Amino acid sequence: MLDPHKFDVLIVGAGQAGGQLACGLRMAKFEGSIGLIGDEADPPYERPPLSKDYLMGEKSRERLYLRNDDFWENQQIDLKLQQRVVSIDPIEQTVTTDKGNLFSYGSLVWAAGGTPKSIPLPRISPDRVFTIRTLADIDRLNAKLSHIENIAIIGGGYIGLEAAAVFRKLGKGVDLVEVAPRLLSRVAAAEMSDFLLKVHGDHGVRFHLGMSVQDITDGDPLTLHLNTQTSIDADIVIIGIGIEPTITPLAEAGAEIGNGIHVNAFCQSSLPNIYAIGDCVSFKSPYANDHWVRLESVQNANDQAKVVVQHILGREKAYTAVPWFWSDQYDLKLQTIGLTHGYDNVILRGDPQTNSFSLVYFRKNLVCAIDSINRPLDFAQGRLLLGKAIDQKDPRLKEISIPFKELLDHP
Ligand code: FAD
Repeated sequence: MLDPHKFDVLIVGAGQAGGQLACGLRMAKFEGSIGLIGDEADPPYERPPLSKDYLMGEKSRERLYLRNDDFWENQQIDLKLQQRVVSIDPIEQTVTTDKGNLFSYGSLVWAAGGTPKSIPLPRISPDRVFTIRTLADIDRLNAKLSHIENIAIIGGGYIGLEAAAVFRKLGKGVDLVEVAPRLLSRVAAAEMSDFLLKVHGDHGVRFHLGMSVQDITDGDPLTLHLNTQTSIDADIVIIGIGIEPTITPLAEAGAEIGNGIHVNAFCQSSLPNIYAIGDCVSFKSPYANDHWVRLESVQNANDQAKVVVQHILGREKAYTAVPWFWSDQYDLKLQTIGLTHGYDNVILRGDPQTNSFSLVYFRKNLVCAIDSINRPLDFAQGRLLLGKAIDQKDPRLKEISIPFKELLDHP
């Protein structure tokens, strides 16, 4: 009988990264005890559908789960849900939860993701303000959707845009307020921002770019007062302005922190026997000129989990996986490979009006990222271009009928 309060590997955060790590350890025949603590009610599940087909009502709850219910027990992964780790003692190698439980660990893996940033809205009823991060968020939102007509979204990032697409497909009126002068300004070039603005505009989304919400008056409907002296009426407000990495217990335990928990190439934090993976982590990426980055993607969560599996098994395999990401909006599949951080030039390949094109980003003459819309071949072959000094004046780069591979085979 295993001691329930002592684990060889204790994972905090039963989400994408934590769930994959626990599975990965068992798949790799790790025989030690594994504890997986999560503060949500559900076992590990995928978040991407929350702003896509699950929100749309086209995907069942069961299909979100990483594994079926009995997997965890069958694999002797001790899943402890609805329990939050509130402190860590790195000397004694223990954690304490909000339920007053104390667990000890051989290795601790912090996989606690992030919490949606909020904005203070003291004057409106909390049941009319929503975020899109957890299954519980979407269940609460879905319960409301059939009774309402107009939705205001604050934030023009991927989640806000994906939700806008779903709401328009459901026939809701959508106003989207974005403080930056263009959409996705942190991660994508203006060509992509303009394209998405047009697509969503054609679908009826009303944009308020370069504006912010100053105040909201409660009522039926709510009135959002913008800094431009204009206002928007809506039944509910969605806040989609990004996440704060969940780091507090580790920070209080003394871990080195930047924009997330600092980890090395093996996902080790600065504290002994404590790893960190997923959305809560900041690391020096070779794909961003060795600058610190914090990535919010399934790829990053899964690949960092693989690195930790190997390290726990005694194999040092540095995290070098190519970053990639996708987003679905209407009939568009956006795929990104590489990181656009610090890009200094971008080449448009194809014609955005055809809903099929790519953007090739350069940093110091080397290809650093490719964004593609409905161009799976560019996404697949774009990986080969990363880090290469492709001639930016080569006309073939702009010609979508010529595969990227051709540029490499015949420079
Ligand atoms: P999470 O999956 O958030 O898991 C962390 C878990 O830890 C959570 O359950 C949290 O509640 C729990 N936790 C936090 N603190 C504690 C604590 N102290 N004690 C116990 N448990 C704790 N990525 C893509 O690549 N493509 C997409 O299209 C895409 N779409 C997305 C759509 C939405 C709506 C969202 C929210 C994310 C999307 N992502 C997408 C991002 C992707 O889902 C995340 O990058 C990924 O889930 C990160 O995994 P994680 O394990 O680090 O964090």
